[in-house]
Amino acid sequence: MPELPEVENIVKQLRRKIKGKKISKVSVYKSSVLDSVVKSKFIKLISGKSIKNVSRVAKIICIDIGKGYIAIHLKMTGRLIYVDEGEKSQYPDKYTVLCFELSDRDKLYFSDVRRFGWVKFLDTEEYKKLKEAAGYDTLEIGVDEFINILYKYTGKRIYNILTDQSIISGIGNIYANEALYLAKIHPLSRVSDTSSVKLRKLHYVLQKILKSAIKLGGTSMRDFVDIYGRKGRFEKELKGYGREGKMCIICKKSEIKRSKLSGRSIFYCPRCQEV
Ligand SMILES: [Zn+2]
Repeated sequence: MPELPEVENIVKQLRRKIKGKKISKVSVYKSSVLDSVVKSKFIKLISGKSIKNVSRVAKIICIDIGKGYIAIHLKMTGRLIYVDEGEKSQYPDKYTVLCFELSDRDKLYFSDVRRFGWVKFLDTEEYKKLKEAAGYDTLEIGVDEFINILYKYTGKRIYNILTDQSIISGIGNIYANEALYLAKIHPLSRVSDTSSVKLRKLHYVLQKILKSAIKLGGTSMRDFVDIYGRKGRFEKELKGYGREGKMCIICKKSEIKRSKLSGRSIFYCPRCQEV
């Protein structure tokens, strides 16, 4: 599933490509992508509107069209693919759920193999609510604020706080594992077991990892590609996540182990990350 760096990357690319253009036509191939909204109503709400900006609320892509927003969640396998006018492309294919045609005849396709992704129209009031409901954005959170939030949940496992989107938004399994590994905090550790020095370090490595991942176009573990169909290049940088059985690069004395927490895979070095 795309996490904050992947979505941030897409938002930046979209801003460059679609800001200032008009949505001239909307084709909905699979109505289920609109959740329960009637197709004709959705098309009417957004057709002919000018794109003022593209931003991100947690992992939701928000396209500002003046008196409202188009909100897009890619979920597990959603992809937004940008195709220039006249460019050869495989889209629409059998996984394409929707297409926005722009005033310069370029197209933006939403393709989704597993079809958990969605597209919604939000009026300004609904957009405000979405922003209020989202937790602190990881990229915007300062170190003191970060530690204060963690201290509100002293008995909770740090991994679970990091991946709870209503507390801190944008971090999923990959980046949570990676940050905990580099901060030498065991994924099963609770806030109360962890020194404030380590929590400060965790904030530092999270910022570093996320910024580096954005620069490298994110991580493409399974399906993720950017709007030009390119895979992210961050997985080569992963030091802890996905490296079970390989030597820990920090202590060089123990292998990375893999285990489960809340149904998700966790990776850790038993020597560097003691509970
Ligand atoms: Zn180690």
